[in-house]
Amino acid sequence: MSEFEPDFPADDPPSFSPASAAAASEALPRPVPADAKWTPEDVLQHVFGYAAFRGRQAEVIATAVAGRDALVLMPTGAGKSLCYQIPALLRPGTGLVISPLIALMADQVLALKALGVRAEFLNSTLPVEVQRSIVGRLRRGELDLLYLAPERLLGGRGAAELAEVPLSLIAIDEAHCVSLWGHDFRVDYLALHRLAELFPGVPRMALTATADLRSREEIAERLALTNPARFVTSFDRPNIHYRVCVKDQAPRQLEAFLAEHIGESGIVYCGSRRRVEETAERLAGHGYQALPYHAGLAPEVRAAHQDRFLREEAVVMVATVAFGMGIDKPDVRFVVHLDPPRSLEAYYQETGRAGRDGLPAESMLLYGLQDLTWMREMVEQSESPPERKRVERDKLEALLAWFERPDCRRHALLEYFGETREGACGHCDNCDTPPETFDASVPAQKIMSAIARTGQRFGAGHVIDVLLGKQTERVASLGHAELSVFGIGGELDARGWRGVVRQLVAQGLVQSDPENFQVLKLTEAARPVLRGEARLVLRKELARVARTRGAGTAPAAPDIDETDRPLWEALRQCRRALAEAAGVPPYVVFHDATLRGILAARPRTLGALRAVSGVGDAKLERYGQAFLEVIEDALD
Ligand code: ADP
Ligand code: ZN
Repeated sequence: MSEFEPDFPADDPPSFSPASAAAASEALPRPVPADAKWTPEDVLQHVFGYAAFRGRQAEVIATAVAGRDALVLMPTGAGKSLCYQIPALLRPGTGLVISPLIALMADQVLALKALGVRAEFLNSTLPVEVQRSIVGRLRRGELDLLYLAPERLLGGRGAAELAEVPLSLIAIDEAHCVSLWGHDFRVDYLALHRLAELFPGVPRMALTATADLRSREEIAERLALTNPARFVTSFDRPNIHYRVCVKDQAPRQLEAFLAEHIGESGIVYCGSRRRVEETAERLAGHGYQALPYHAGLAPEVRAAHQDRFLREEAVVMVATVAFGMGIDKPDVRFVVHLDPPRSLEAYYQETGRAGRDGLPAESMLLYGLQDLTWMREMVEQSESPPERKRVERDKLEALLAWFERPDCRRHALLEYFGETREGACGHCDNCDTPPETFDASVPAQKIMSAIARTGQRFGAGHVIDVLLGKQTERVASLGHAELSVFGIGGELDARGWRGVVRQLVAQGLVQSDPENFQVLKLTEAARPVLRGEARLVLRKELARVARTRGAGTAPAAPDIDETDRPLWEALRQCRRALAEAAGVPPYVVFHDATLRGILAARPRTLGALRAVSGVGDAKLERYGQAFLEVIEDALD
């Protein structure tokens, strides 16, 4: 009954079908006029509606336009898609995008069509006639971008479909899937090195948001990129706030957290399918739009739940790690880990699904002694070869140490990924309320003696009772009140002692036996501390976590002014109606950031609306009038 069963779906549930959602694209002209000499900035402004490039986007684009291979390592939300979409629009031919998941392709194609870009994807979920018509358009040069899964490209049909089609570039998205050591390895990615021979002279760009150093190193080599230009930016996600809490009535902790996020979308990760089911049910009982998602559910159910998560604005997805990869939803406002992730890489990846739009997002992780015990057991029991097992063990130790660190979470996380930062971030739990540490050498000796004197046969509960001098039935029947350690632990309360035990287990001084009622035992590493030869500093256990934003029910987007709220709601309503009519999620019409831009600018003309970031030519034409009317109604 491990809480950490792996959970991977056997199949990839299809997302909603963009082929039907934005059918009008057939007749569209090129979004970049053939005769106009557009620069990358022109494309950015006209097609995407953004004023300026971010970070290293301009450099990456210039490299690809010039025909050189590139390796692009940027965090989620940095804007990797534009890096290949813009060169694909500027160079002659169709841009080919290799992407691992159907849901991901469907999302991107939908968003591109909304911008007036002639994009499609090809895979076996599409009806045969639709596939045939797409191949026809591809051959006639009527596609700007084509998304394909690697197995289609190299397994059979794809290569024939693409024969003699001029390609502008090949983008390999989620390129870390080629890494044998990474968390998302896909065997189909290994064959992608053949792209070099199949399409000589076509520039290739590998992109990933993985922070895993080992995976990153493997990418260029395994994909056989030719002298690639490398673009690595910081992996910091400054808009995400990190918080780690000791598990203490997890359901209540979760509900207190969710009460601060009413009306927002988020993900609650659980370690097992059973916990997913229970949690989703409990939350639904409390009025949340909570939906379960795990690999044990029927594919239609998973697809339906994923679809609602994408389309609606306040769905809480309660899921195992089977959910998330390829979810491009920009306005996920929080990610909760009700059980710990498997590694810091996984944690970064999973929390990284929040706040892709750059607006504030929160992550909260809960863990306790039992979790530590199970996680260690999982690694020891795994069937991995010894070399891999050593890696798994190191990753787990790094994760456990990170949980207990008293200093800045963000900087410690970045340091793990090879980025050093000075000072503190000011935007994580440890920066908000720096934890107190104390010299725990003597308390550690006391509890370790109590474990030894009771014969290394009991769990934390009984050992702590003995230290606190509690006359329980068990103490009486075992005669433990006679022990020299009975009642010597008055300096801490039960919570404090549990914190000491957990930290000793996390540091490997004490072992807790998962097969045997979590019985505590001393390890070799305990000796120096027991003999008083090593000093031990631990963090003080916090009293039950104080709320940051105050309890009660806060509305979504709490930072929006009361006076602005009617217009904000009207804009959202307009977006929802347009999205429903087009059969797309609201963020495909406009992201929250763009909607906020409209709220702030209160444009009264199409020209003024066009100046808002995120409003390009196609969206202005399609949606502009509707939003102007909303503003007029609200302000007149
Ligand atoms: P990634 O693939 O790196 O996770 P995306 O390509 O999905 O990131 O981009 C994240 C968000 O940032 C999207 O909403 C995108 O439209 C927006 N974005 C990208 N580049 C810019 C830019 N230069 N200016 C404004 N917004 C941008
Ligand atoms: Zn910090």
